[in-house]
Amino acid sequence: MYEPRHTHADQLFFQSPVSRYSAIEPPEQHQDEPGLDADLVPQADLGEFSYRGTGRLEGRKALVTGGDSGIGAAVAIAFAREGADVAITYLPAEEVDAQKVAQLITDCGSRAVTIPGDLTNARFCQEVVDQAAAELAGLDILVNNAGKQVISRNLEDLSDEQVEQTYQTNIIAMFRTTRAALQHLPEGSTIINTTSVEAYQPAPILLDYASTKAAINNFSKGLAQQLAPKGIRVNAVAPGPIWTPIQPSDGQPPEELPEFGKSTALGRAGQPTEVAAAFVFLASPESSFVVGETLNVNGGMPTP
Ligand code: NAD
Ligand code: MG
Repeated sequence: MYEPRHTHADQLFFQSPVSRYSAIEPPEQHQDEPGLDADLVPQADLGEFSYRGTGRLEGRKALVTGGDSGIGAAVAIAFAREGADVAITYLPAEEVDAQKVAQLITDCGSRAVTIPGDLTNARFCQEVVDQAAAELAGLDILVNNAGKQVISRNLEDLSDEQVEQTYQTNIIAMFRTTRAALQHLPEGSTIINTTSVEAYQPAPILLDYASTKAAINNFSKGLAQQLAPKGIRVNAVAPGPIWTPIQPSDGQPPEELPEFGKSTALGRAGQPTEVAAAFVFLASPESSFVVGETLNVNGGMPTP
């Protein structure tokens, strides 16, 4: 019924960014949190049929939080195609998405580790890092990507519980997993945090979410200065509107989904695989002089 939007042209194929993907018009839809890629209409492009590795992460060992779906899944697939072994974390309800990504990782000869659990739990933040490092026999890339985004139209209706859950998931867990990772990361390692265009252009219905994204930018720039002398680089990626299961699971008003992403300069939403290459660049040694940077991947939405 709904055509998948996948491209079979790889990310290095010369093509127009306007037409690489057609502008999607997702039908109104709703999923309970956390949403599943498996139930997304239309399906998103994670690069599973297209991303071509060029050996940029040969022998590296990566942990990607929220690596089951959306941007994190596209990053996990790209990392594996670039030669890395990859551990992914996700919520237990996302097992179906996680198993698909794990299969794609092993299909390219890399090791896949799947670790379900809740990052709002402080102990899990430590355990997930230790387990990834144990099963991968080391760790030299950390991608803090898991996130919670739930709309709320009025501050009067935004509960303390939601604000705390959003902060716990998006920024407090980032302090904890990064602190735990420092016990394992050797010199040369890279840390990449997922922020958002919402850090600069906060939507009035995403006050808790957008403010965590501004905090992630600031945290990344400060930590980058702390760790640079130790040979560990920290950077961030700020996606614009990307078609992922976070959107129909209360991340946007359902009636606005058909217009999702059309306000970008390219006139369309991005696909997860279009964000993945930014993470590959920041993870690999080719970006050795890029420190404390936020790389915007947003289809042309102006940022400071
Ligand atoms: P997604 O739903 O595919 O990924 C988010 C993941 O976060 C989920 O798969 C889930 O595994 C994880 N997660 C959520 N709560 C968790 C918890 N309590 N414990 C453990 N894991 C938890 O959606 P996505 O859009 O790919 O989101 C990935 C990141 O990209 C998020 O940080 C999001 O804020 C950011 N982002 C997305 C967009 C966009 O338009 N999709 C734009 C800017 C930034
Ligand atoms: Mg998911």
